[in-house]
Amino acid sequence: MTDCMFCKMVSGEITPDTVYEDDDVLAFRDINPQAPAHVLVIPKQHVATINDLDADSSALIGKMMMAAAKIAQQEGFAEQGYRTIMNCNAHGGQTVFHIHLHLLGGRIMGWPPG
Ligand code: AMP
Ligand code: ZN
Repeated sequence: MTDCMFCKMVSGEITPDTVYEDDDVLAFRDINPQAPAHVLVIPKQHVATINDLDADSSALIGKMMMAAAKIAQQEGFAEQGYRTIMNCNAHGGQTVFHIHLHLLGGRIMGWPPG
C-alpha cells in the first residue's frame, strides 16, 4: 500500500523508533505515548482492519502477540504486567488503517477502558 504510513515504516521510507523486528512483524514506539512504555506491533503485510483478516493472514495475530510478550520482557515490565489492545474501525477508535497491536506498560491500567 503506497499511501499507508505503517507500510512506509516497513519499507524504510519513514524511520520509526524501532524496538523489535523479525521476518513478519515490526514494533516501534508510539509517537503519542499513553503510558511510560507504549509500543505498536504491526505485521509487515498490509491488513487494513481486523475485519480484513483471512485464512492467509490470521496467523499474523499470534505472531504480533508473541512479539508483544517478547518486547514486554525486553522493556522490563513483563512480570508487573501490561495491556495489549487492537482498535477496529470508528467505534474502536482506529485511526491508522494498517492493523497494529498497542502494547502499554509501566503503570497500572484502568478498567473499563474509555
Ligand atoms: P489507533 O488509534 O488504534 O489506530 O492507533 C494509531 C496509533 O498510531 C496512535 O496511538 C498514534 O499515536 C500512533 N501514530 C500515528 N502516527 C505515528 C507515527 N508516525 N509514529 C508512531 N506512532 C504513530
Ligand atoms: Zn499498510
